[in-house]
Amino acid sequence: MNVLGYSAPSATGALEPFAFERRAARPDDVVIDILYCGVCHTDLHMARNHFGFTAYPIVPGHEAIGRVRQVGEKVSRFKAGDMVGVGCMVDSCQHCRPCLKGWEQDCAEGATFTYASTDRHDGSPTYGGYSDMVVVTEKFVLALPDGLDPAGAAPLLCAGITIWSPLHRWNVREGSKVAVIGLGGLGHMALKLAKALGADVTLFTRSTGKDEDAFRLGADHVVLSSDPAQMATVAARFDVIIDTVPYDHDVNAYMPTLALEGVLVLIGYMGPLGTPVNAGGVVRGRRAISGSFIGGIAETQQMLDFCGQHGIVSDVEIIPIQQINEAYERMLKSDVKYRFVIDMASLKS
Ligand code: NAP
Ligand code: ZN
Ligand code: ZN
Repeated sequence: MNVLGYSAPSATGALEPFAFERRAARPDDVVIDILYCGVCHTDLHMARNHFGFTAYPIVPGHEAIGRVRQVGEKVSRFKAGDMVGVGCMVDSCQHCRPCLKGWEQDCAEGATFTYASTDRHDGSPTYGGYSDMVVVTEKFVLALPDGLDPAGAAPLLCAGITIWSPLHRWNVREGSKVAVIGLGGLGHMALKLAKALGADVTLFTRSTGKDEDAFRLGADHVVLSSDPAQMATVAARFDVIIDTVPYDHDVNAYMPTLALEGVLVLIGYMGPLGTPVNAGGVVRGRRAISGSFIGGIAETQQMLDFCGQHGIVSDVEIIPIQQINEAYERMLKSDVKYRFVIDMASLKS
């Protein structure tokens, strides 16, 4: 099937129109016409080869919302016309320990990611959601709850689940004290979701001028992380800190703000930390540093259903796909409120 999308041709080349083929539907496949796709900072990392393993051309995009065009004969949960989502993964082995636990993202055989991955069946490269259509095995298709704005719901497919999974794991509930580092795409979903779970929520930001938005999005307190005096006011306070910062940074400054047995969860940066972690920061106070990678398919549906019940969507700036390169530049300057979402109708203009 012929597809139109946008791809990066190299680590330094601008994203540009790209025509390619997707497989014909297998019996368990769902064919989806993509309406919207969110722009995650990971798309930028991958397009620009920040991790060092990108193969080109790459079609990014793993926050897709669309309408089912057709389904294979074995598909039972979806039918033509349904509104659905596709997140970071499109397949996994389904029998390893992580898959059986519902953590397909950590599949022992390697999950098949929505882009920059290899199809388990035919070895072809996967191309992501910056495109007008995708073919996905039924197990990895998410149902969009009624009443959620489709453009605002797109970022739930990665930003939403990446926040939901650690909040759930660390038992965030009524009265929990949660802090979020960085107010971007993931960070703003963290404020919304932690607040909806009943937590008392603090934003750590390095930017002045985000306070008003932070309070509107769910923060109860805002702390300028570059100001030691403000940092001192939150000593020994947090049960959970969600760290969304995408680049190397010093985590030591945040450790004293964890309460007894508090945990700092790294979800943004994945490389070596340039400033060594002071062991004393975890030894004292029985504190922990943990990490979290997206979330499983079942918990993604659970998160979407929670958002449906609470009317939670992302705050988005909708762009035509022709503005994707400018959007990346603005993301690098933290100039996004709070997620770019591509209107895929623009592909045909
Ligand atoms: P984003 O929208 O660009 O937001 C990142 C925020 O972090 C910025 O708004 C800024 O907030 C802060 N920040 C940016 N650069 C910083 C720096 N050099 N030092 C300190 N703070 C900085 O990015 P995003 O889409 O939320 O993604 C965040 C990171 O999560 C990316 O690295 C992405 O690849 C990663 N990610 C991980 C997973 C996972 O499964 N673990 C899933 C999705 C994304 P302030 O201005 O408020 O400080
Ligand atoms: Zn993402
Ligand atoms: Zn597996």
